[in-house]
Amino acid sequence: MPSKEQKLIAILGSTGSIGVSTLEIVASFPERYRVISLTAGSNISLLEQQIRLFRPEVVAVADESAAQQLRELIGDAGPEILSGVDGLICCATHPTVDVVVSAIVGAAGLIPTMSAVRAGKDIALANKEILVAAGELFMAEVERQGVRLIPVDSEHSAIFQSLAGQRGQDVRRLILTASGGPFRNASLEDLQSVSLADALAHPNWEMGQKITIDSATMMNKGLEVIEARWLFDLPAEQIAVHIHPQSIVHSLVEYRDGAVIAQLGVPDMKTPIAYALSWPERLPLKQNPLDLCRCGDLSFSEPDLERFACLGLAYQALETGGTCPAVMNAANEVAVAAFLQGKIKFLQIPAVISQVMSSHTPLAILELKQVLAADKWGRQKAETIIYEGVG
Ligand code: NAD
Ligand code: MG
Repeated sequence: MPSKEQKLIAILGSTGSIGVSTLEIVASFPERYRVISLTAGSNISLLEQQIRLFRPEVVAVADESAAQQLRELIGDAGPEILSGVDGLICCATHPTVDVVVSAIVGAAGLIPTMSAVRAGKDIALANKEILVAAGELFMAEVERQGVRLIPVDSEHSAIFQSLAGQRGQDVRRLILTASGGPFRNASLEDLQSVSLADALAHPNWEMGQKITIDSATMMNKGLEVIEARWLFDLPAEQIAVHIHPQSIVHSLVEYRDGAVIAQLGVPDMKTPIAYALSWPERLPLKQNPLDLCRCGDLSFSEPDLERFACLGLAYQALETGGTCPAVMNAANEVAVAAFLQGKIKFLQIPAVISQVMSSHTPLAILELKQVLAADKWGRQKAETIIYEGVG
């Protein structure tokens, strides 16, 4: 029986980088957290291990054949095993769940996470693509349901922490820091021929493949600007990006009296994940403390939008608004997948996105089905451009 002190959690995307780190926190604090549901795409063997360790009541996987495979591995004594979007929704809205950790990658996380909000669940949000594709609708639903939404993304967690106790009208701007990724110092010419292995070698963070490539193109920071726009309700003009290669200062808030408040720490996602689960408390994590006397110089500079065109495309999508960010996000997902499969070169990622965006006629978003239609359109357009050859 769960004690009253225990928070009951659902993890969407439990086999990913954020999902695994979340489960490490759960395992360290069993008196505080209990897993009710887990979901995964196709990594059945890791999900099987997680089921044996954490004993959830229900799990879901992407398709029915994976579900069948898992049922055979687990046998009758295990949890209910579901599949597809309906399965994800069941896991996200299970009646006993208090908080949903939204850590599926990409727009695939939108429907289950939105369903969780509609079911009145608190959300620890790692999945930034949800806010890129459907920020306005999602935040309106969070408001309507009165649920708690706490960011997991390290920059947004830093801003959330730097805003604590302050008045919104005193904020002059948010400053998101970016490591600059593996190609921070590469010339545009170097970027023509970088390999997949180079792009996957992030200097500071270990993450899933999609976000690692997004970090190399700096689309990740573009997605984060849009994420910040919705989470903190500030226009793009008040959201700046600074390159900070050391990833120690996780982001900053500048106030109108000139004061700047930042959150610092060693780069480890366990800190923001734990904070999103335990807020307003802080958990006694066994992290290496930040040793400012030994971490070397901290430096900051402006991003180069010529070499990192994706960042500019994201600002452009935010300015255009409506369905444009959803289309941009969809095109990026397809382009990154094509790059991972060796079908296109690194600099063709922004080229694909830019071509998709210029052929899109944006519409105002009034309901979720428009977001889903824009997402589908963006994917199909990007696939066609890649198939026909990127200009
Ligand atoms: P990942 O690729 O390591 O894991 C993604 C998870 O989602 C896996 O469990 C996978 O099985 C599942 N999944 C993927 N596609 C799915 C689908 N169609 N249906 C159902 N499940 C699916 O990704 P990650 O690095 O853990 O990132 C997850 C999210 O968190 C992303 O939106 C990312 O931008 C964000 N984020 C990650 C980090 C990080 O350090 N990894 C930091 C900040 C934000
Ligand atoms: Mg981040």
